[in-house]
Parts: sequence; structure tokens; C-alpha cells
Amino acid sequence: MSDLHTLSVKALAESLRSKQVSAVEVATRFLARTGGNPHNAFLDIDSEVTMAQARASDAKLAAGTAGPLEGVPVAHKDVFVTRDFVTTAGSKILQGYRSPFDATVVQRLAQAGMVTVGKLNCDEFAMGSANENSAYGAVTNPWDTARVPGGSSGGSAAAVAARLVPAATGTDTGGSIRQPASFCGITGIKPTYGRASRYGMIAYASSLDQAGPMARSAEDCALLLSAMCGADIDRDSTSLDMPSEDFSASLNGSIEGLRIGVPKEFFGEGLHADVRAALDAALREYEKLGAKLVPISLPRTELSIPVYYIIAPAEASSNLSRFDGVKFGHRAKDYVDLVDMYKKTRAEGFGNEVKRRIMTGAYVLSHGYYDAYYLQAQKIRRMIADDFQNAFKECDVIAGPVAPSVAWKLGENAGDPVADYLADIFTLPASLAGLPGMSLPAGFGASGMPVGMQLIGNYFKEAQLLNAAHRLQQATDFHLRQPEGI
Ligand code: GLN
Repeated sequence: MSDLHTLSVKALAESLRSKQVSAVEVATRFLARTGGNPHNAFLDIDSEVTMAQARASDAKLAAGTAGPLEGVPVAHKDVFVTRDFVTTAGSKILQGYRSPFDATVVQRLAQAGMVTVGKLNCDEFAMGSANENSAYGAVTNPWDTARVPGGSSGGSAAAVAARLVPAATGTDTGGSIRQPASFCGITGIKPTYGRASRYGMIAYASSLDQAGPMARSAEDCALLLSAMCGADIDRDSTSLDMPSEDFSASLNGSIEGLRIGVPKEFFGEGLHADVRAALDAALREYEKLGAKLVPISLPRTELSIPVYYIIAPAEASSNLSRFDGVKFGHRAKDYVDLVDMYKKTRAEGFGNEVKRRIMTGAYVLSHGYYDAYYLQAQKIRRMIADDFQNAFKECDVIAGPVAPSVAWKLGENAGDPVADYLADIFTLPASLAGLPGMSLPAGFGASGMPVGMQLIGNYFKEAQLLNAAHRLQQATDFHLRQPEGI
């Protein structure tokens, strides 16, 4: 099969089940595509591990004990710890680190039969919006290699867009699944906070971090999400005691009468004209499919930026205190005493953005500033969540842009971290509220770059979101288009 690498997860799983192709053939093809590390998407590849997993899949397929995604390749964002691959979280401080166990999400996808191709580049500790904060170099966008793939799951998005893997995992703290999916013309979903286990996901901001799948279509995301979700209460204290769902089973529902809320704050001045045009067209398509557009308001949208950039660094400053040269990874060579060892290890191991966030976080949590910043931010966070609940009285799902623009040029925001922060405005609100959100291809901008549409649902409404996205994908072909030279 010459088109093996362009097949969807669904089609690959079917071809493997019906023995049209073997897991070894599939793994061989995808490993070959990763040769030379296109787009700098991968941080670790180990073909022996991958081929051993593929042979095990073939044995299960032959024995009739195959999982639902048996033999289908996947690659993991490098914040998921893995036993068989190095895990760095895109940081020098974890260079060469090997975890003694697999993250729950990694384990569950393996149980479903998926074969791991490797680990994917990302912003250091998932802090970033462009994948330019990786200690191992930036990732390039397969649609235009002069542009960023988005972040922080930039390696995941680029790998799927370039057909290096049919699907990948990502993590989303403030948009890191949705925004790179949008920039690379693929589909990604962040479930309700607590639905996917955080065990083995290197913590950035624990009250926000969520895992999710990134693939080309809602149909493929549904297959992965079904395997990824589910209670893990013994190992993750914020895991919801709630079973996963068969998200694929709900993909045939009509959206006749679905009320799509269109927040006026998402379509204000800062939105680039080409993104607005693509979204307007996609919303009209939804109307044709029988949905009803309802104007709504999310009045505190703008506040989500300062609120998030207080809460996330506060949690990060605490979470990252474990990287001290004692238990994990890098330790400075020359030091005079313990404190000096801590200081040198962290000064050498962390990149600038991580240091900036640790300093901001320590500041907003410090005596005298806690009340003024952290506590205020927590109060507004609650109000942002309440705004969504008010909106969901009038609509079933919310639609809007993922980001104000298409993918920007590499280096364009160099030295101006706030420019990247501001571009997170549309993804942060759902993260702060813990709501499920997704990004799906909705058209192309003036520069030929993909434009994503964001859909936000109420708690536990992943099935409804995926169905709404699937309906649009049945009526449009944006998700099927691919960058040149695939
Ligand atoms: N861009 C945001 C940040 O830098 C979101 C990152 C994420 O979701 N991991 O924090």
C-alpha cells in the first residue's frame, strides 16, 4: 500500500484487522518517514522498541486478542514519561532521563494496541505557544517551514500534519493542543479537566494540565480519546471517578437545532481578517447543517490572560522545585555546598522562559503579594467559569477562533514573550474553567496557512463536541488537505 502513511487512524486500524497490512509493515513505513527528523518534530526515536511493539501487535492480530487500535502508530509529546524512550519535557535539565514507568495515558494507548514511534518535541515543560522554547531547537510548520507550528505541542502537530504519524498525544494547559492543531491544520481535543489521568504527565500547572489526542479528524480523535480517558484515582488525585466513553459511537448524531454560541468577545478588533473570514464561512456551513447561531457574551475573556499568567506560573514555580539536581536528570559539576548545587543546576538546566515563569510564580505567591495577585486571580478564575455556565443556558456549544492569527514566522516574537501570551486569549478561558475544547480545521488564511475553529463544550460534553466537529468534517474537506510534498 503506497498510501499507507496518508491513511487515517480508523482506516489503518481496519486494514490491520482485516490483515491487508501487517503492523510491522506499518511501523516500517512510519519509521522510514521519520528519517532525518523532518521539522525537528521528534526528540527520541528507537526503531528496535517500535519494531518489537509492532511484532507483538502482529502476534495479537493473529491470535485474535488485538486491541481496538492494534498496530496503529502513535507518538507521544515528551512530557509523558515513558520507560522505553528518553523523556526530557523539552528541557536540558532532563537530558537523557529515563522514567521507571509509563504515564497512564501512554499505558492505555498501548493497551488499546497502539505502537509507539517515539517522543515529540515541545516547548520546555510545555511553556510556550510556538515551540520555540524547546531546549532542542524549534519545530517547523509543515505548511511553511519559515513559520512556527504553534505550541506547546508543536512536535505533535507537525508530526501529524507531515504524516510522520497518524496520531499523537498532546497536553493542554492553556491551549497547547488546540493552538498547534489550528496552526498545522489538524484536529485536537482537550477533554474536561480530570477525565484523562495526569499520572506520568510532567506537571506544569496541575490545576489546568490535561492530556488529549491530536489527529487529522474528529473521528480519529474520538478513537484515541476513548482509550485515553477514564478514572485513575489511585494515581492521580484529580482524576474523576468516571468511566471513559465510546466517543466514536456518538459520531452519527444530527446537529439539527444545535445551538452554537458565538461570543462577541471572540470576534473583536484583534482578530485577523483572514481568520474571521474562514470562521464566518465555517459558521455558515454549520447553519446549512441545521445548527442555530446564538450571539453570546463571555465578558471576562480579556482577563483570562493576566489570570492564567498568574496561576500557571504560580503552580509551575512549585511543581518545578523538584528539579534540583538530586533525584532527576542534570546536576551541576562544580559547586561548594548544597545550596550552590541547587542554584547552579537550575541556572544551567532551565531555559529563559522557564526561569521567567518560576520567578513570576514565586513573586505572586510571596508574602504581601499573594492576596494582591494569586488570590485575586483565583477569584476571577471562578467568575470566568461562571460566565461559561451563564452562556450554556443559551447555547449547547460555543464556537470561535483558536488564535487571533494563523501561524506566525519563526523568530517573529523573539524577545517579546508577552506577544505570545496575548495570542493565547481564546484558548485560556476554557482551560481556566476546566471545560472541554477542541480545534478543527476550518479553512485557510490569506497566506495559505490553516485556520482552526475552536469548539468549547460544557463539562463532560466531549461526545457532543466531537460529533459537531465530525458533521462539519463530513461537509468540508479542510481536514483532508495536506501540505505540499507529502
Ligand atoms: N501558551 C500557554 C503557556 O505558555 C499554554 C501552554 C500549554 O497549554 N501547555 O503557558
